[in-house]
Amino acid sequence: MQFDFNKTEREKILERVFEKLENFYSDTKSLKTNPDLNIDAIRGLLLQEELEFGTQPEKAIDHVINGLETYAVHTPHPKYFGLFNPRSNFAGILADLITATYNPQLAGWSHAPFAVEVEDLLIREFSDKFGYKKEQTDGVFTSGGAEANLTALLCALNHRYPNITEEGLIGMDKKPVIFCSKEAHHSIQKAVKIVGLGTKLIKSIPITGESKLDTILLEQELKKLDYEVYAPLMVIGTAGTTGTGTIDNLHKLSDICQRYDIWFHVDAAYGGGAVLSSELKPYLGGIEKSDSITFDAHKWMSVPMGTSIFLTQHDDILENTFGISTPYMPKDDDGLKVAQPFTRSIQWSRRFIGLKVYLSLLLYGWKGYEQIINHQAEMGRYLKRRLREEGWSIMNDTVLPVVCFTREEFVNDMHITQYIMDNILKNGTSWLSLYPIDGIPTFRACITNYNTTEVEIEELIEELNREAASYRITVNQV
Ligand SMILES: *Cc1c(COP(=O)(O)O)cnc(C)c1O
Repeated sequence: MQFDFNKTEREKILERVFEKLENFYSDTKSLKTNPDLNIDAIRGLLLQEELEFGTQPEKAIDHVINGLETYAVHTPHPKYFGLFNPRSNFAGILADLITATYNPQLAGWSHAPFAVEVEDLLIREFSDKFGYKKEQTDGVFTSGGAEANLTALLCALNHRYPNITEEGLIGMDKKPVIFCSKEAHHSIQKAVKIVGLGTKLIKSIPITGESKLDTILLEQELKKLDYEVYAPLMVIGTAGTTGTGTIDNLHKLSDICQRYDIWFHVDAAYGGGAVLSSELKPYLGGIEKSDSITFDAHKWMSVPMGTSIFLTQHDDILENTFGISTPYMPKDDDGLKVAQPFTRSIQWSRRFIGLKVYLSLLLYGWKGYEQIINHQAEMGRYLKRRLREEGWSIMNDTVLPVVCFTREEFVNDMHITQYIMDNILKNGTSWLSLYPIDGIPTFRACITNYNTTEVEIEELIEELNREAASYRITVNQV
């Protein structure tokens, strides 16, 4: 058994893989956006007997590609108006291939100094973009926004309770409270569970009419908190909520946090992409005063999944939180002033996550990204304008390309929205989701794909109009 295969075989296999991937990449729009969720058919497709002795590479590759092509929501599709999942850009795909082949181990600096330095450079660059001081900043690449938010919570805890690494939560005299809006991402609940604090310590603040965290109510909560028992730990503002793409009032939140001495974290997993556009950046105003930021490059920067960034202005907090020393990790860099990633993050063995961003920047530049971000924001505005022209009502208000909409006459009909949604998904011509606003179900369409143009948006509107008309006919017939 040759794990490597020989050169001729490898070239043949690669050629086959390349051809299949190229077909998918260049012709994504011809596929159905989403699969039939036929669990028996899916399980029936899986190869099990072949696991014992293996099978022909051609068979294995065709099988895997067919499975992924038939049974997946195609997030790279230009009519996937979905949940912040992008089409992978070409540079990001190359980066994943290169990373998998070289497989650098980023746990310790000396094992992969080039890769670690690339990530450090990017951390400083992104810090600068978000308005942090390059020379007084720190951060780490994470697998996603959930890990970045968990990192933020751990940093906030260690900042407030420096003894916590030894004493643990049981050593605390007060119960720390985390404040965020009711629209904040649910990964915060997970973070609190993982840390062992319990979700009761999340104080979920209602939103204003604009769907922003209500800062007046936040202050009221802070004033009436029983400080004998509780201590405010952290306020999380969201820049781009999952439901409506709303950006909280970051200036106001930062003011409150400074007055009450609370760690201010901004979850900009999606909306952080706005920082790359000079037109949109002002809407993130206040983020530069935060203690930490979560930013998912695998959302608006359209690199393959597993790419997020945690940033903080406290340049010693990661080391204080995660610091550890072992007899077996390499120390041949002791004399150099370098940071060891494994002592500054949740992960130990580390993949070269940052290459997807580095290579993307080398191929497109910040300038290229600015164009793409602006294009997607422009498509969001186009979608809103065209929906209004066609008699639809826009139910959310954001500069980010997330559009929640319905029609006036739908509000009193429990079934029509779901009917339209079911039919569109059944056709597999577009993918969008439903999101309730004030109890009213709305369609939610996000421009997550840099290839989405006016053409795809017109097609979506036509589908919506057609299904709405077909519902009226169905109802009138009964
Ligand atoms: C996507 C998202 C997350 C979770 O990030 P993952 O990358 O999925 O782990 C957290 N917060 C917000 C606001 C998000 O949009």
